[in-house]
Amino acid sequence: MHRVEASLQVGILKEMQPGETRVALLPESLKGLLAQGVTVLVESGAGALSGASDEAYIGAGAVVGTDRALVLATSQILPVVQAPSAEDQARLQPGAVLIGFMRALEAPQALATAIAGKVTIFSMELVPRITRAQAMDALSSMATVAGYKAVIEAANILPRLFPLLMTAAGTIAPAKVFIIGAGVAGLQAIATARRLGAVVEAYDVRAAAGEQVRSLGAKFLDVDLGGISGEGEGGYARELSEEALERGRTLIAQACARADVVITTAQVPGRPAPLLIRRGAVEGMKPGSVLVDLAAPAGGNCELTKPGVAQNLGGVRLLAPMNLAAQVPVHASQLYARNVLNFLGLILKKGEISPDFSDEILTGTCVARDGEAVHPRVAALLQPKAGE
Ligand code: NAD
Repeated sequence: MHRVEASLQVGILKEMQPGETRVALLPESLKGLLAQGVTVLVESGAGALSGASDEAYIGAGAVVGTDRALVLATSQILPVVQAPSAEDQARLQPGAVLIGFMRALEAPQALATAIAGKVTIFSMELVPRITRAQAMDALSSMATVAGYKAVIEAANILPRLFPLLMTAAGTIAPAKVFIIGAGVAGLQAIATARRLGAVVEAYDVRAAAGEQVRSLGAKFLDVDLGGISGEGEGGYARELSEEALERGRTLIAQACARADVVITTAQVPGRPAPLLIRRGAVEGMKPGSVLVDLAAPAGGNCELTKPGVAQNLGGVRLLAPMNLAAQVPVHASQLYARNVLNFLGLILKKGEISPDFSDEILTGTCVARDGEAVHPRVAALLQPKAGE
């Protein structure tokens, strides 16, 4: 029987950025989409590194093809992990919906081709932190994975064991782990280090984090910020004055000197990561100790961090991973796919694209549509500066 109307198509691409292993939707994600009469076209190999073979997608009801250009040109909805290249963007249909970690505030220019091509772009980083959007909060999902993996990476190269061991050959003291920033990644790092048997200290500029840290069995370091509140809008940290930051740095340097492993996760949304560990603090760390700077993608919390580069600084190992979630692709993709599916629920109804742009989740995340950057911060960043 021939279909009268062509059904809407969701395209799943193979991610092309170096080191990217995740995929936006897994075979298990497709049931609800297919039930709406949507066609799913998958680029061959899209899920290979996330444990999802072409056969698994076919088994789940998708069509798999090797022609990437066809997926780009014929799909109305394209969930992605990272933004496709300008060349790929140029193939998209006007009105196509592109959803992913678009880095719209960090690199809006990289979206220029899709914006000019009238693609509707949603940036998953911009999902507001409201209760209704929790199931779409992909940043939190990836931070959870990264916090866990940072501890595992550190334990792997630490020349010591993590747990307290009492053996016939004597007692081994537990490793000391210091976590800076007790948000989503930091709390997961604390829990993981505790499960491995380490003694954990943590610091955050938000006093509210203290209770969560203590409930995980770690010690919370209180810093007197000189009467300044570290808590800003929406439960996030605010950017501190240099004076307040300096008060924290002294205490941080002392805790670093005691620690075998330091994991830093401190970030302020939309700002470069705060500089919390100076060269002197690294020089004061024990030989063989490990520092993992999870804030590396935002510039890093340590003065010596080189984003993406692992260094050995006089026996102290400094890791600055840019995409730790991609090192755990199966579960990172699983969590991300669920976040994307929940988000898609706001856009795709009964097999048709019908977004309600009065919904604050959609207004907050929509970067561009109909050829215009509609997100005010993105639009401001794309404004030509005077003299250009
Ligand atoms: P984040 O990645 O922006 O920052 C990580 C941590 O760094 C935060 O805890 C922050 O307070 C801390 N930090 C910033 N500047 C610092 C400094 N100078 N010194 C020490 N620490 C510093 O934050 P996040 O992990 O995404 O989440 C932060 C808060 O938002 C948490 O309270 C979290 O529970 C909450 N949250 C809410 C929702 C929701 O309601 N949907 C979702 C996710 C997170």
